[in-house]
Amino acid sequence: MSPEASVTTTPISRAPLSAVEVEQIRNTHPLVAEFIEGLSEVLGDVTGQRDAAVARADAAEARLNKVRAEHYPDDGTCVTCTEGTQAAWPCPTARAAAGSGSPEDQT
Ligand SMILES: [Zn+2]
Repeated sequence: MSPEASVTTTPISRAPLSAVEVEQIRNTHPLVAEFIEGLSEVLGDVTGQRDAAVARADAAEARLNKVRAEHYPDDGTCVTCTEGTQAAWPCPTARAAAGSGSPEDQT
């Protein structure tokens, strides 16, 4: 029998432990309790970092969408960039917003 075949899994309850249950674990298995508390602290740090990264990405995407909404073609020129060669579509801003240099990428 392969090692994988002998492994059984039990779903882990997401219900929080009661204060009494936590104290029982702390009293009977202090090292396990210490490990879980450390793991919980690390998980909290990682979750906070993830939430901050998501907030930064959302804010950056909102700024990019605002730029894209302001720079679009109308009769071969950008509606916002109206000066000289800068006005020819795709304007430099639209190319930069597209990332790859192709304004078609933003559609
Ligand atoms: Zn433009």
